[in-house]
Amino acid sequence: MAEDFDLVVLGGGSGGIATARRAARYGAKVALIEAGRLGGTCVNVGCVPKKVMWHAAQLADALRDAPEYGFTAVSDAIRSVHNWALLVERRNAYVERLNGIYARNLENSHVALLHGHGRLCGAHQVAVGERRLRAGRILVATGGRPARLEIPGGERAIDSDGFFALAQCPQQVVVVGAGYIAVELAGVLQALGAQVALVVRGTRLLRHFDTMLGDALAEACKASGITLHFEAQPAAIEAHGGQLAVVLKQGGTLVADQVISAVGRTPNTADSGLETAGVALDTKGRIVVDEWQETSVAGIAALGDVTGQLDLTPVAIAAGRRWADRVFGGQAGRKMDYENVPSVVFSHPPIGSVGLSEAAARERFGAAVRVYTSRFKALYYGVLDHKVDTHMKLVCVGPEERVVGVHVIGAGADELLQGFAVAVRMGATKQDFDDTVAIHPTSAEELVTMA
Ligand code: FAD
Ligand code: NDP
Repeated sequence: MAEDFDLVVLGGGSGGIATARRAARYGAKVALIEAGRLGGTCVNVGCVPKKVMWHAAQLADALRDAPEYGFTAVSDAIRSVHNWALLVERRNAYVERLNGIYARNLENSHVALLHGHGRLCGAHQVAVGERRLRAGRILVATGGRPARLEIPGGERAIDSDGFFALAQCPQQVVVVGAGYIAVELAGVLQALGAQVALVVRGTRLLRHFDTMLGDALAEACKASGITLHFEAQPAAIEAHGGQLAVVLKQGGTLVADQVISAVGRTPNTADSGLETAGVALDTKGRIVVDEWQETSVAGIAALGDVTGQLDLTPVAIAAGRRWADRVFGGQAGRKMDYENVPSVVFSHPPIGSVGLSEAAARERFGAAVRVYTSRFKALYYGVLDHKVDTHMKLVCVGPEERVVGVHVIGAGADELLQGFAVAVRMGATKQDFDDTVAIHPTSAEELVTMA
């Protein structure tokens, strides 16, 4: 006998949980099925443990700088004063607390939580083990997993999941990739005392961002001791004794005790009954959805990483809440707006970016684009011998100079961006920026004083 629900959600990650709770708030009878740990990628092997590691890396950098601020030096070698295992233990305990909080939140929202692998059996039925659930609506939010490095010996590399499972800090690491994960993990490992080499198949880091950001990050990476190999592609990973050797197509070999593959994500669409239900996938296996997050099958919607629209936690959450507002909350026109989504790369230094890159703006608006840039040393470096430059760019359009892009790399970029994203969304002009009184002394004030 099938159990009846208004909504069955497949996947208890960022998108699934947010949608389930919002729908339940409107009175819908909701079931959520999770095959693994509640909270999905973000909580267990993504944003949360990553940010903890990033904070640890920030502290390591601060310890290096501390003597010039008058503190007694703790040690030249960060590794010798850092207990990686303790950090991992405390990080995992925090994540477990979050798992519990998510479970209680679902309970408080009266969402029925089912542990197991969910499989669609048509447009309105889902199977979990022996149980059958029938629902007016099904939402697929099954997320993704690390893409494999398809080269001989590729299985010798770990991925971001493997990074979080590391019991100790490796000595020498080769990171393959130049996207968010590659630069974030490279920065953390280098700061915590590993020797990192980054293998980049193209000519720059973060090539989907404004070129200023990738170029400035490459400069900062080099200054921190990371070795960058551009236009380099791994051909094979060989094992020699306890070491790994990454053989490059262009010639040369890089030796490491860990190789981390960060070459993108693969959507979790296999083995969920999507084909049986007739849900259309694109050539990369992602679920095809329309602007309302609806799939090719009436009654089945999808959102988050499994659709590959913009793989960010707040995007999955926002898409889910808006979908629930529309479907269960009677808000007819409500849908996710994928324009002007701000994002931060937790690199060293961090990057904040919202809106169009200069290149994208010029392609869309041609000569109507005007760009303002600034490069400076934040006050923090005033008393330090080593300096890391902050770079900022405002991309403006038209005679009114509407700000369509804000791009920052430098200390504090992560926290300063959110407010500027509001301004960009509201259509602020350069004059609005100029008319906003600066906050002194901060790095952010540069964004309202650029000439
Ligand atoms: P997920 O969170 O992946 O959840 C999907 C869930 O579905 C999983 O729990 C899975 O077990 C479950 N599932 C899959 N198939 C089934 C099935 N058939 N039945 C039942 N359950 C199933 N984003 C940010 O915004 N900021 C960051 O700083 C950030 N850092 C990241 C760092 C890393 C290393 C990674 C990998 C990602 C990071 N992201 C970050 C991206 C973010 O984690 C994802 O965009 C987000 O988790 C996507 O949410 P989702 O709900 O679509 O999928
Ligand atoms: P990305 O898509 O950002 O980057 C993948 C990188 O791997 C690119 O540099 C790509 O090169 C390279 N690559 C792909 N295939 C190969 C190959 N066969 N050999 C060598 N290099 C290859 O994916 P990530 O895995 O870094 O992250 C996945 C997503 O998760 C991100 O896009 C982001 O949306 C999300 N995320 C968000 C974070 C945040 O908000 N701070 C942090 C971490 C992840 P090329 O550039 O040439 O295509």
